[in-house]
Amino acid sequence: MPLLPARPAVTDTRRVVIVGAGFAGMAAAKGLDGAPVEVTLVDRNNFSTFQPLLYQVATSGLNAADVAHPVRGVFQDQANLAFRQATATGVDWDRRRLLLEDGALDFDHLVVAAGACTNFFGVEGAEAHALPLYGLRDAVRLRNHVLGRFEATDASPALIDDGALTFVVVGGGPTGVEVAGALVELFDRVLRKDFHTLAVSRARVLLLEMRDELLPPFSPPSRRHARAILEARGVEVRTATTVERVGATRVRLAGGEELRAHTLVWAAGVRANPVAAALGLPTGRGGRIVVDDHLRVRDRPGVFAVGDVAAAPDRHGEPLPQLAPVAMQAGRHVATQIRADHDAGATRPFRYVDKGTMATIGRRAAVAELPLGIRLSGTPAWFAWLGLHLVFLVGARNRFSVLVNWAWNYLTWDRGPRLILDTGPQAPGEPPGEPVTRR
Ligand SMILES: Cc1cc2nc3c(=O)[nH]c(=O)nc-3n(C[C@H](O)[C@H](O)[C@H](O)COP(=O)(O)OP(=O)(O)OC[C@H]3O[C@@H](n4cnc5c(N)ncnc54)[C@H](O)[C@@H]3O)c2cc1C
Repeated sequence: MPLLPARPAVTDTRRVVIVGAGFAGMAAAKGLDGAPVEVTLVDRNNFSTFQPLLYQVATSGLNAADVAHPVRGVFQDQANLAFRQATATGVDWDRRRLLLEDGALDFDHLVVAAGACTNFFGVEGAEAHALPLYGLRDAVRLRNHVLGRFEATDASPALIDDGALTFVVVGGGPTGVEVAGALVELFDRVLRKDFHTLAVSRARVLLLEMRDELLPPFSPPSRRHARAILEARGVEVRTATTVERVGATRVRLAGGEELRAHTLVWAAGVRANPVAAALGLPTGRGGRIVVDDHLRVRDRPGVFAVGDVAAAPDRHGEPLPQLAPVAMQAGRHVATQIRADHDAGATRPFRYVDKGTMATIGRRAAVAELPLGIRLSGTPAWFAWLGLHLVFLVGARNRFSVLVNWAWNYLTWDRGPRLILDTGPQAPGEPPGEPVTRR
């Protein structure tokens, strides 16, 4: 008798290839569970990353494994899905084949869900010296770097005057606010005790934003609240401030001011994954693939693009924001489109349901803006943020581990995962992110 139940035979040979196992690709793949199609999910990594919690990995709040989940583990019971760890590099449109670094996959439907990557906006030296926070490796590198600066300064305190304990965060959106808030907490509450002979009080966190206010997607009261909390906790917030050049230990601002800083965290924006152009698909602003309101790519029958890589239009034709709920809803929608196509049913336009926006600032501090004009801040918003992120994390083990870490951090003011780990060479196809020259 076989140890494992035999997989049911697939009754239709139509092949669906999904590029990217992030929020959008995973939602599309799950939405095709049980459909009479063969699904191949391709990702350059064998895991899916929960990006909203990367900043907690970078600031020693969580382990890397808490915010990532092996893709194969998610689909153990989905008989019509195969996973392939590979990097997509192009498409042979005549033969309808997705080209991979190490092979090719034939498709009838192609779903491009390859996400985005860091946008340095051409700022001189940023790509070489700034620390982005887009993927899991970025988060671990940033953690290594931050802790490494404290170790170096402990050995040579004179480095403080050279900016070794000055941490510049560029970008006043949710990620920049979260990173800045978490860094001051890490320094004040944890590293101050770890490095008891070092003048940790001299560590500075600067948050730079080129616009006049932080958190542009939020209402003015939430923006003001976030700024007030950050400043009260010791973050030096500078709005209307533009970074002009980034060096290994210096940051030059527009206007000529030079900051001594060994760390510059780049949280200033993203652009669509360049694979969009490599696949020969039409792209618009930010390199995002142009799709119609059904999420179809023009002149490419059977091809869809979803999530951050695409510019799905809202009811007014404006591109929807690059957010996890947009990606998940779009992924699910494409799965229903493919099913409807199979049943010869009519396809429907995609309508995004906005359930609100949240950003956390630090312990018991967050802002949340929900439908019907409901606005929360402080502790209620923080608990709402914690609960929501726990619900959306993939995998019971991850949820349990994150909950235990959060409870531990909350009760003890401690942060366990403050480890300096060797991240090794870059993964195949991974966008550059290692600022090897930054000291
Ligand atoms: C630091 C950070 C914090 C964020 N916080 C929030 C938040 O609090 N709330 C919120 O709503 N949104 C947040 N976002 C945005 C949110 O994470 C994205 O909108 C969401 O991840 C988009 O999902 P996606 O599936 O389009 O792309 P991703 O989740 O990025 O997935 C893309 C996948 O494609 C794979 N891939 C890329 N290129 C290739 C290739 N050539 N071949 C094969 N595979 C490839 C990647 O490995 C990846 O797994 C945050 C983003 C970042 C970076």
